[in-house]
Amino acid sequence: MLKDAYHRAIKDLRISVTDRCNFRCIYCMPQDEYEWIEKKEILTFEEITRLARLFIRLGVDEVRLTGGEPLVRRNLEVLIAQLSALEGLRDLSLTTNGSLLTEKVEALTKAGLKRINVSIDTLDPEKFKRITKRGDLSTVLEGLFAAKRCGLDPIKINAVIERGVNEEDIPILVEFSREHGFPIRFIEYMDVGNANNWTTEKLVPKKEIIELVSARYPLREIGRENGSAPSVDYEFVDGRGEIGVIASVTEPFCSSCTRVRLTADGKFVTCLFSQVGHDLKRLLRTGASDEEILEVVGGVWKKRQDRYSDERLEALRAFKYDPKQNKKIEMITLGG
Ligand code: SAM
Ligand code: SF4
Ligand code: SF4
Repeated sequence: MLKDAYHRAIKDLRISVTDRCNFRCIYCMPQDEYEWIEKKEILTFEEITRLARLFIRLGVDEVRLTGGEPLVRRNLEVLIAQLSALEGLRDLSLTTNGSLLTEKVEALTKAGLKRINVSIDTLDPEKFKRITKRGDLSTVLEGLFAAKRCGLDPIKINAVIERGVNEEDIPILVEFSREHGFPIRFIEYMDVGNANNWTTEKLVPKKEIIELVSARYPLREIGRENGSAPSVDYEFVDGRGEIGVIASVTEPFCSSCTRVRLTADGKFVTCLFSQVGHDLKRLLRTGASDEEILEVVGGVWKKRQDRYSDERLEALRAFKYDPKQNKKIEMITLGG
């Protein structure tokens, strides 16, 4: 089995299908305008499916579609159908801001999508608008319940928690999650990209989130799914659901990181905080054979030594961390 320099396999592929988004969340796209990838540079569904098939040969068994906002890519259900037909793919999921779910979820489900994550950081309509700049909470909630009616399961909620912005929304989100059966994942605010002015003061650590929730609803730790998932999960002692926390900053999980990312323009990226990707589109478009592409991907993976979040924690503890020291690839290009 293919392993990197720290014996980590290649298991979860995150595919960004577009870098465009109809929201401008303050923690992800703080600027109003970005330089978009040109349309002709974006991988076609056939190119994405071919690469996914090759990644599966190397050990990948989970694919998550993301973006930018994946549902702004037209006819996404065609890609879902192609990917769901791939042999060896155990799990296919999608992370979305939910704004276009109402109109698209039926086609996505028919094409083979089984589960989704919807990002909702607050249930206060005005705050939702302030965080997302262009989003409308009622449209997103409508999409969330449309997905439930279509039978997607589980439908998880992702909530990025930022100090001074939405930490007081944690209990309200938990109650909503318990009432409607949507497991929720709280995400520590990260210094992704180059423009969100991340500081440790804006971080609400996992420990604080768990203390806050368990004071109201006692929790029992379940741990990480398969021992390696980013989220540490907890079940409510009263049996009414579960929550998880993705603590990339305070409890990094690089040692078990089996994630690999493919950007919308065909760059293969080995870490969320990478500064560069490896161009697979050029290989696809210059007639490279499957074996040639596998050799390039395998060669990069074998040398992979990424452990950015581990290193960040070491530097933070030594008061030596500067989030701007490296120019990273933007989150909308990488897809989270
Ligand atoms: N547009 C889709 C969405 O918002 O769900 C998919 C792409 S988005 C980049 C993927 C995930 O990354 C979302 O759950 C989002 O909340 C999370 N995210 C974006 N910026 C983040 C940051 N600075 N810290 C932590 N999570 C972040
Ligand atoms: Fe768009 Fe998702 Fe980033 Fe928000 S988090 S700006 S919805 S890509
Ligand atoms: Fe994986 Fe990089 Fe995140 Fe560490 S920082 S968990 S290596 S993506």
